[in-house]
Amino acid sequence: MKKKLVVIGAGFAGFWSVLSAVRQSRALQKQDELEISMINPDEYLTIRPRLYEASLEGLRIELAHYTKPLGIRRITGYVNLIDPASHFLYITSLKEKLVLNYDYLVLAAGSTLQSFDIPGMELTYNIDTFAAAKKLENHMIDLAGNGFRADGSENFVIVGGGLTGIEAVTGIIGKAEHISHYYLDALPSFKAIVIERKASIASEYSIEARKYIQGIISLKNIEVITGTAVSSIEPRKVHLSNGMSIPTQTVIWTAGMQASRLTEYFYGERDMYGRLKVDQFLKLPGYTNVIVAGDAANVTVDNGLTAPMAFQYSNFQGRWAGHNAVNDMFGMPLEKYIQEGYVTCLDLGHGEALFTRGWERALELTGSDASKVKTFINTQLIYPPADAEDAVTASYPEIPEF
Ligand SMILES: Cc1cc2nc3c(=O)[nH]c(=O)nc-3n(C[C@H](O)[C@H](O)[C@H](O)COP(=O)(O)OP(=O)(O)OC[C@H]3O[C@@H](n4cnc5c(N)ncnc54)[C@H](O)[C@@H]3O)c2cc1C
Repeated sequence: MKKKLVVIGAGFAGFWSVLSAVRQSRALQKQDELEISMINPDEYLTIRPRLYEASLEGLRIELAHYTKPLGIRRITGYVNLIDPASHFLYITSLKEKLVLNYDYLVLAAGSTLQSFDIPGMELTYNIDTFAAAKKLENHMIDLAGNGFRADGSENFVIVGGGLTGIEAVTGIIGKAEHISHYYLDALPSFKAIVIERKASIASEYSIEARKYIQGIISLKNIEVITGTAVSSIEPRKVHLSNGMSIPTQTVIWTAGMQASRLTEYFYGERDMYGRLKVDQFLKLPGYTNVIVAGDAANVTVDNGLTAPMAFQYSNFQGRWAGHNAVNDMFGMPLEKYIQEGYVTCLDLGHGEALFTRGWERALELTGSDASKVKTFINTQLIYPPADAEDAVTASYPEIPEF
């Protein structure tokens, strides 16, 4: 009987896990003894870091293009429950309820945006998943269809002044203009506003980088409201804790990420985001057959520092996860995951960007130079090779020099 490797999630971590597992099983000449399955709610690898962009075109890649030729079993469904003691998963798919048994599990179910107990939270939009970004886009198309005439419809309120919030607030007017070109002769005067509970937006950045971001935001005439939280949302208004109300029909929530709730089925140390603490092989302590990778994992990457939830880590952790899962199943030594350094590349819209290096997020490149790096990341680096076999080759667990 074949051994069963099951990967939950087809984000960057899950996608690279299955490719790496295919490659390593071939390297060990064990491909005929292994069944690799991947479970994901839809049929795509979503290029999640680009969901803030003006157009959603090209932001989903068909998984079947890789899984079919490589013989990976793909299940379109949602894992509802994991029983680590019996090695069973309970899945709801479009057609049926499935129970699946595994010999080895890679948990790569990523992260989601937290929902907060605020009146009207259900009226907010977000860019956390493709479906959510599409819902926002459809809403903006509706507003454009009405000429952005209704109360507050020209105002876009972004909640959260972290990396995602800044990309959203600097990109939202470009998106509104992009949509308007199809519906309107003249562009309305759009307004973007960012609400941040802390004293400053971009608070994780170095002072120099933060100043640069604030400068660009002010040049773009974006309103920044700090030290204030959202207290409630109505269909045409948002109320703030400082007593202010802003007329708007579009509140985009970006604050508060948490690890997939599937992490709750395992015991062990977890951090404030609910991520499970794993060892340097990405194995979950206390289990012989569980690896956690990507946004669901808390991994030490650099001098005791933990990887943030970021593509730059999940993308590579997947390569280690598949490799180590296969080696563990066939009694081979595991590869230590090491990924030093941390960079960020922040899109500030209209050819402006900021590139930082190091944990203190020190400013390294700005303007069109940084924008070229962002374009390279978003259009090349982040995408797997188009050819399935080339992708298998690229799944080797190593970090290339950038
Ligand atoms: C708007 C935005 C901008 C970003 N920008 C950047 C950036 O500039 N740089 C950067 O490094 N990172 C960025 N990120 C973060 C980056 O996208 C994530 O760190 C990365 O996607 C994590 O990959 P992952 O595979 O661990 O998880 P995910 O991308 O969350 O993928 C998990 C997959 O598992 C599936 N899944 C979840 N639950 C279940 C279940 N119960 N059953 C089956 N399947 C399940 C999900 O549907 C999903 O397909 C951004 C994120 C967003 C939303």
